[in-house]
Parts: sequence; C-alpha cells; structure tokens
Amino acid sequence: MAQWSERLRRAAIILVAGALALGALVVFGDVSFPRALAVFVCLVAGALIPWQLHDAEQARGEGIGTAPVETPVVRAVVEGMPDPAVLLDRAGRVLHFNTAAGQLAPALRKGELAQFALRSPEIITALRQAIASAEPKRTTYLDHVPVDRWMELIVTPIAVPTAFGGSDYCMLMTFHDQTPLRRVEEMRADFVANASHELRTPLAALSGFIDTLQGPAREDAKARERFLAIMHAQATRMARLIDDLLSLSRVELSAHVRPDTSVDIVTIIRQVVDGLESLAKERQVAIEIDLPTLPVTIAGDREELLRLFENLIENALKYGASGGRVIVSLVMANSTDGTPEVRVMVRDFGPGIAPEHLPRLTERFYRVDVGDSRNQGGTGLGLSLVKHILNRHRGRLLIESVLKKGATFTACFPQTKTTQNT
Ligand code: ADP
Repeated sequence: MAQWSERLRRAAIILVAGALALGALVVFGDVSFPRALAVFVCLVAGALIPWQLHDAEQARGEGIGTAPVETPVVRAVVEGMPDPAVLLDRAGRVLHFNTAAGQLAPALRKGELAQFALRSPEIITALRQAIASAEPKRTTYLDHVPVDRWMELIVTPIAVPTAFGGSDYCMLMTFHDQTPLRRVEEMRADFVANASHELRTPLAALSGFIDTLQGPAREDAKARERFLAIMHAQATRMARLIDDLLSLSRVELSAHVRPDTSVDIVTIIRQVVDGLESLAKERQVAIEIDLPTLPVTIAGDREELLRLFENLIENALKYGASGGRVIVSLVMANSTDGTPEVRVMVRDFGPGIAPEHLPRLTERFYRVDVGDSRNQGGTGLGLSLVKHILNRHRGRLLIESVLKKGATFTACFPQTKTTQNT
C-alpha cells in the first residue's frame, strides 16, 4: 500500500506540472487547446505505463512473493496441515510455515532462504531440482535433532496466478516422519534373518550327520544310533520352530480381534500341568498347584491359552529345574487402574534372570543364554508368543526375578465375568 501511494504521488506531481505548463502555453496562445490536450494524454500515459511495466516485470521475477499467496487463507491452510509444512517462493524464500515446521527447524524465518534453516544436503538438492524442473521431488534424510528420525520430504511446485494475469510457482515443502515405518521394516528384516538362521543351524547339523552316516559311520552301529538320536532332536527343533512361527503369525493376524468365548482358565491350567507331568519327572521338579476349586471364567481363546501356560510352565521346568519346585497359582486382584483381573503366577526357584535381560525377554529370538536355550530345545519365540496372546486378550505379562532365587512370570487377564459355578 505504501508503495502504491508513493507512486501515485509522483505521477500526480508530474501530471500537475505538465497540466500547468500546457495551460500556460494555451493561455499565451502558443499552442492550440486540442494539441495541448493531446500532449496531456501522452503525459498521463507516460506517467502511468512505466509503473505498470515495472510491476509486471517484478511479478515475473519474484511476483509470487507478492500478493496472491500471501493471503490469510493460504496462511491458514499451511498452518492447518498436520505435518510440518513450509511454503516458499520460487527463489526459495520462506512465505509461510506452520507450527510443526517451526518445531522441526527452529531457525526458519519468513522472508529468509529456507536453506539457512534446513541445511541437510538432501533437502537443498530436492528443493533446487523442484525449482528448476517445476516437478514434484521426494527425498528422505536422517534428522538428528532432537532424536534420530527418518524424514521424508516432498517438494511440490504449485502454480499460482500473478498480479497481472500471468502464472508462476511457489514451492510447498511437506515433511513426514517415516521412523515407525522404517522400524517395522528393520524388524521384519531382522525377523527373517533370525528365522532363517535358526532353521539353518539344525538343517546344517542334519545334513552333516547324513554325510557321516553315508560315509565314515556307515558300518558303525553304535555311532548310527547316537547320530540318529541327534538328528531326531534337530528335526524336532525345526518342527517346533515352524510351529512357533506359525502360531505367532496367527496370533498377530488376529491381534485386533479380542476373543469373546467364555473359557474356564482353571481347567486349562490343570490340563497343561497334567500334560507336563512327564517333563517334570524327567527334570525332577515337583509342580505344586494352588488353584481355586471353582471355575474362573474369562473371555479367551482356549488353544491360545493352552499355548501360553504351556510356555510359561515348561520354561519354569526347563530353566528353573535346579530349584526342584514350581508353583502355579491363581489369584484375583485389581490392576493399578482398579480393574479386577485374574492373575496366574508361575514361580520357580531356579537361577533366576539378571535384571538387564528382563525388558528384552519377550523380544523374538531373545535368549539369556542361546546355547542353554538350544540344548533345552528352545526356539526363543515362547515368551514373544506369550506376550502376543496376552495382548490379544487385553492382558499383560509381569516378570519378576531375583538372581539365584528364581523367577515369577504372571499372566494378568481382565476379568470380564465373575467367578461362577459350572
Ligand atoms: P526359549 O524357546 O529359548 O525358551 P522363550 O522366549 O520362552 O524362548 O524364553 C526366552 C529366554 O528367557 C530363554 O531362552 C531363557 O534364557 C529365559 N527364561 C525364560 N523363562 C525362564 C525362567 N523361568 N528362568 C530363567 N530363564 C528363563
């Protein structure tokens, strides 16, 4: 506005001066009125047209930095975008940016070149290419502040009309946090690598023994018996691993569907304990059960609950065998938010688990001692499966342990139904 009034003032001075001079010439009879009028019209044109040309020129060079995109509506749209967004003119100067962008790059300032605040080479290259080609550009880069994050940047040139009917571009930069996606991708790759490794180990042992049996041990009956027993154990381990992988993927697939069948958890636990009696005998461990005589019903999936308790009790028998005792008990309690829950505790008196391992125990393939787990026929997936089954049941797993005194694994289920008789 200030620029316009200054221009009008100058044009008015020129026109008034011209009109006065022409008026004087007409009065003194030097020039006829029509001629003086024609000269005045030329003066008017001469005073106004250069300003217009200047504006048009400016609009072509940097016009997008002027009127059309600097409106409250555009500002509101940029501000309203959920992800960080920065609007630039074609020279790369910041026109608007939203709060999220301000948090991403606190050095962003209106009117300054964006690259002063967004210094990553990938951003600068993408912006230059988008400006030069007027085509959208996409890039990803690693942001280090405040924490490491994988960000995706999309630079979209947007055609905007200029003040004098032409068109130009402004650049919209939008940023998207890709870190969760990357993590999932990394986890998937790790998982495939771990699963292949776990399968390859027993497979390598099997083919090694087959070679030995076909060659040097062909006539050795004693060695054959021993090797066949090892091969049987390795094949069982592979089968178990595949079983666990399938169970895990089945539970994950149905993770969002909460089981709604009423099941008696006491019967399920008793069935698992009965099934593990022979293992308990073999490991010389006494299983003590402290369960209510009445059924305790929860909304659950029977097969999954069998797997869950089987894993917990079997782990106690395998890893806690040196304690000679395993206690399986069920209590009613309230969670921290006051919700009544059913807690099933499996306690052993074995070597326990060092505190640094506790938070990682439910990760896939995580073991405290890989060799020990393999010797026990473990796959490293048991507790991960337990956690997923509990998640599906909207429950939680508590793990407590004191080194050399044993470990207690508690499965907590929200109690949807009260204890009832059958
Ligand atoms: P695995 O197939 O190896 O048993 P799990 O996921 O069931 O896999 O258990 C992960 C690891 O947690 C085990 O390898 C073992 O090191 C440890 N662990 C599980 N239960 C116990 C326990 N009761 N006492 C000591 N360590 C345990």
